[in-house]
Amino acid sequence: MATVVFFHAHPDDEALSTGGTMALMAEAGHRVILVVATRGEEGKPVEGVLEEGEELEDRRSLEVEKSAEILGATRIEFLNYRDSGMIESDTTNHPNCFWQAAKEEAVNRLSNILSTEEVDLIVIYDPNGGYGHPDHIQVHRVGTQWAQENNVRLRWVTLNRDAIRKVVEQTINETTEAGKELDEDLTKREERSSEDSFGMAEKDITHAIDVTSVLDRKRAAVVVHASQIAPDSFFVTLGNDQYEKAFGREWFVDPDAPRTREESLRSDLLLN
Ligand SMILES: [Zn+2]
Repeated sequence: MATVVFFHAHPDDEALSTGGTMALMAEAGHRVILVVATRGEEGKPVEGVLEEGEELEDRRSLEVEKSAEILGATRIEFLNYRDSGMIESDTTNHPNCFWQAAKEEAVNRLSNILSTEEVDLIVIYDPNGGYGHPDHIQVHRVGTQWAQENNVRLRWVTLNRDAIRKVVEQTINETTEAGKELDEDLTKREERSSEDSFGMAEKDITHAIDVTSVLDRKRAAVVVHASQIAPDSFFVTLGNDQYEKAFGREWFVDPDAPRTREESLRSDLLLN
């Protein structure tokens, strides 16, 4: 059995981007470890969720612990940096934020956490952190360095740009055909996914993990992040069929073994 580390930036990233794969690996008997760099201080809390005097980072720490339990992770640790917020915001200058951390120091924190583990594989983000968030980019840099120093294989979790564009296009067509206006959320998704820095092209992706058999658990783990996921968000309201279409597969890259043109997407994250 393998030991697999999922290294994430904020509470909820684990469920949204790798929740299904974590659940499948735990189910198969592998040791799944979750390391989260920050406690998500800069997230926007859903209105009315926090108790009086309750700090967002405390709530989000509890949420990610619950999520890890649902997904079958046996150990969860924090690097305890501060959430850097979005790239253009002042919070990226905070001295304790992950974006400002010296790489060596962050690698040391990760090494200390993992010193007692025999890690077979570490999962980090692609070089642009999926969509450019500074903490996600930092996870890529720190995780890459740690993997090199410890001679551990790595995978990048990414967004399948082509698949997301297809779903967005389809939704836009259906909406306009029904004579309805495009809502803000959809317009934003279209804008974001049309950028070439968003995720990766399918031809550059090596692994597609079918997580439909554990999709109920992935969804439960997402919903546990109630401070971020409002009850009327599409993560909660989407019908099962549509949910499966949007979240039934998770996408990874083996940067050391690119996929040839003839080769189909690999289905086992542990195999090259
Ligand atoms: Zn994040």
